Amino acid sequence: MLLLPRFDYHEPEDMKSAFALMSGLKTNAKIIAGGTDLLVNMKKGLISPKYLISLAKMKELFVLEPRKKGMAIGSHVIISDLAESDVLWKNFPVIAKAASVLGSPLIRNRATIGGNIVTARPAADLPPALMAVGAKIELKSKKGKREVNIDEFFLGPGKTVIRPDEILTKIIVGELPPFTGSDYIKLGHRKALEIAIVAVASRITFDKPQGVIRNARIILSAVAPQAIHAVSAEKILINEKPTEKLIERAATLAMQDCRPITDIRGGAEYRKEIVKVLVKRTLLSAVKAVNRKK
Ligand SMILES: Cc1cc2nc3c(=O)[nH]c(=O)nc-3n(C[C@H](O)[C@H](O)[C@H](O)COP(=O)(O)OP(=O)(O)OC[C@H]3O[C@@H](n4cnc5c(N)ncnc54)[C@H](O)[C@@H]3O)c2cc1C
Repeated sequence: MLLLPRFDYHEPEDMKSAFALMSGLKTNAKIIAGGTDLLVNMKKGLISPKYLISLAKMKELFVLEPRKKGMAIGSHVIISDLAESDVLWKNFPVIAKAASVLGSPLIRNRATIGGNIVTARPAADLPPALMAVGAKIELKSKKGKREVNIDEFFLGPGKTVIRPDEILTKIIVGELPPFTGSDYIKLGHRKALEIAIVAVASRITFDKPQGVIRNARIILSAVAPQAIHAVSAEKILINEKPTEKLIERAATLAMQDCRPITDIRGGAEYRKEIVKVLVKRTLLSAVKAVNRKK
């Protein structure tokens, strides 16, 4: 069995102390949240930080609360709390569903939403769902705070715009307009403990009941270096009624919007076919969700 390399562990009680530690320890230090990614990488010898700075005692990172117009989710909220949140299932079911299929109960009980975002894996479950609802990422450093649209947060596998002196503190999701429906579907070889071969998060908003589509977001995961919008598929849905023919056309266009690779989990052509199937299914399910709410 691989052993963890030696490190010192710090558990600051507030942000000020965390920033002081981070600036003192610089590149020798790494933030630890649930550790489900970080500790695996340390055991494999891929990284060996001398200091770990835990976020476990910072109360402000644990919020999971409705706001006047939306929801604020602290970066240290664990995945199982998202999967079991009634407020989330009611207002942002696409996020709750993505959380409910991440890893296994053991992983969901430790892994945090912040860690899932910062890790920036091309097949991570939360980013596509958060992109579908247009989430914003709050980052804090000792110099102040900034908000980044999640569409601009990821730069590639393992790469984001977060600076070494910053902590991801919150995910902010604005209230969704009426007549909105969404869904997230992940395909893996198994039902649990599985990284996606392909996953799709779709969200559509109608102008009125039985009306036309005003806003569409279709996010494809595990078919590019990071989760991406199926841009041409999103475009053709706007100002149209969701006929079967239109949804089929959008699903076909989505295949051209992605750049999958062939790896151990699936071939590129197979992944494209699955994109088509999942885009179709998530869109149909999103339409159904709107009709159910009427
Ligand atoms: C067996 C197994 C199965 C898994 N299955 C899945 C799966 O199905 N789907 C999936 O998406 N992922 C999966 N993962 C990956 C992992 O569990 C998730 O990415 C998890 O959400 C990471 O969160 P964490 O809190 O454990 O992060 P950590 O491991 O603590 O940290 C990960 C990285 O993020 C940084 N970080 C964490 N929080 C912050 C913050 N607030 N601000 C700044 N930097 C921060 C850390 O420094 C580190 O670089 C799996 C992992 C394992 C081991």
